[in-house]
Amino acid sequence: MSKTAPFGKNFLKEIKELLLAEQIKLQAELAKFTNKNPHTPDDFDATFPEYGDEDDENAREVADYTTNKSLEISLENTLRDITKSLKRLDEGTYGVCKYCDKPIDEKRLRARPTSGSCVDCKKTLTDEL
Ligand SMILES: [Zn+2]
Repeated sequence: MSKTAPFGKNFLKEIKELLLAEQIKLQAELAKFTNKNPHTPDDFDATFPEYGDEDDENAREVADYTTNKSLEISLENTLRDITKSLKRLDEGTYGVCKYCDKPIDEKRLRARPTSGSCVDCKKTLTDEL
């Protein structure tokens, strides 16, 4: 594999489409229960549900808000990874392992387009944990 141009144009196009589709899906998912922060990109705030004023309704509001909040955080993190990957695609640095600077396996990138490290580094890191 050549280090200067590790990926073909078609592959990068395919990855970009995957990332954009995922980005739209996540934004639609977040829009269901959050308000977008107009000042910070990729920042959302879970809305507090309103079911009523009874005790059990209030309890459900808090429970659902807690669930939404943790879902919001995990979706936001994925969305940020996608935004970062799209930026790297534009800059031409996409698919390069952040630890060893080698190109990441195409199969791995297809399965998980936001991967930032190659299989070998990932393995080494997980083994050390
Ligand atoms: Zn690596």
